[in-house]
Amino acid sequence: MKAMENKLQQNTLTPKEYVQSVYQQLKERNSHETEFLQAVEEIVESLEPVFEKHPKYMKLGILERLVEPERLITFRVPWVDDEGRVQVNRGYRVQFNNAIGPYKGGLRFHPTVNASIIKFLGFEQIFKNSLTGQPIGGGKGGSDFDPKGKSDLEIMRFCQSFMSELSRHIGPDTDVPAGDIGVGAREIGYLYGQYKKIKGTVSPGVLTGKGLDFGGSLARKEATGFGTVYFVQEMLKDNGQDISGKTVVVSGSGNVSIYAMEKAVEFGAKVVACSDSNGYIYDKNGIDVELVKQIKEVDRERINVYLETYPNAEYVAEGSVWEIPCEIALPCATQNEIDEETAKTLIKNGVIAVGEGANMPSSLAAINQFLNNNILFAPAKAANAGGVAVSALEMAQNSSRVAWSFEKVDKKLQDIMRDIYQNSVRAAEEYGRSGNLVAGSNIAGFLKVADAMVEQGII
Ligand code: NDP
Repeated sequence: MKAMENKLQQNTLTPKEYVQSVYQQLKERNSHETEFLQAVEEIVESLEPVFEKHPKYMKLGILERLVEPERLITFRVPWVDDEGRVQVNRGYRVQFNNAIGPYKGGLRFHPTVNASIIKFLGFEQIFKNSLTGQPIGGGKGGSDFDPKGKSDLEIMRFCQSFMSELSRHIGPDTDVPAGDIGVGAREIGYLYGQYKKIKGTVSPGVLTGKGLDFGGSLARKEATGFGTVYFVQEMLKDNGQDISGKTVVVSGSGNVSIYAMEKAVEFGAKVVACSDSNGYIYDKNGIDVELVKQIKEVDRERINVYLETYPNAEYVAEGSVWEIPCEIALPCATQNEIDEETAKTLIKNGVIAVGEGANMPSSLAAINQFLNNNILFAPAKAANAGGVAVSALEMAQNSSRVAWSFEKVDKKLQDIMRDIYQNSVRAAEEYGRSGNLVAGSNIAGFLKVADAMVEQGII
């Protein structure tokens, strides 16, 4: 290790040694942050050929600078529940990199949230946002607050307290949060209301995913799910296939899952299963997406309520939705939901394509299973970038005080997803990893940020 450190200081490392040494140092500093390390490992593996071709990035310490967030803010979030008890949660915002634009990334409210989860999400966001072609940097935030089972007033009080602190750190040209797990239009509304009250100014560009009455963009709600299916369709067509007529399984039944199902059905696929954290529904006649919307978006109920309308569907409380055979798998729930064994099950059951709607839903071993078995694999960074892309379009509409039609935004989304696909394919080819969209999207996302960092100096 000492020899490696000396070489690093003298800039005499080979690209392989360089990425290994940066990763090793990161591991020593952040040994307990397993999700963050996993996200970094996946990226650095792809970047070796880039450092071969452009040694200047090594000389200028681009990777060392990229893996260290510009800042990580943690804060206390005190609030009062409906019984009058004081509750305290922990809030986070990581501002990872603003080389190409203001920090941009969602807020996650879920009991599993910790610094490692926020850092993995913020790190991936740098590359994803770069891939969209929009001028947005990487950030992410959230809290270990659990919105499940809370009343509307409790959600409001929590959001107000969260924003009381967060408001010091964000702004339309600084850092622009949005939603993620547990944060939808209701939470964004409360957060925005509190931001306005504290700042005494109306600045819709400070948050995206807002309600349509106060600066939200049409098609933002649908964007991540639709975008994932647009990307998968592009990948299938490029390989002589089509989503039409295929059997699809989707995990989760939240924002991303619902609109991925809707678009897949519109494209002629049959979606037979979806889930929540309690279990999954299998409906061999095809999931009724409108009913799932009603259950999840309006009634805020559990997915097993589906059986009240379709008693012939099956609800499985124990077990994984990935046990259901499918040709196309769309993981849209959460990180690491597909491990190596699950990947093997999917392959055995005849999957031909996997499109990641969620962030990092497949472990590294699972990804390798898919790639080694020639399964068409659409990695999250590329496939789910439609959400943040339309968030950037929402920012553009806010700054110019206009509101575009659904069709206009949807068309731009389709163009962006096609560009991301093609850029990823091209980058993979150019750097000797033909057909590998993991490497291609990592490389394409990296290059733009790295060049911006080179041009802006060591700051
Ligand atoms: P939602 O909160 O709307 O839905 C999440 C869904 O996943 C719910 O069905 C939830 O079930 C399930 N889920 C969440 N955590 C777990 C868990 N630990 N185990 C099992 N199931 C779980 O979130 P989104 O749809 O917005 O986000 C889903 C994924 O997509 C996340 O990985 C997010 O980071 C990613 N993403 C979201 C974007 C967006 O625009 N919203 C943009 C890009 C990526 P339950 O209700 O039971 O918790």
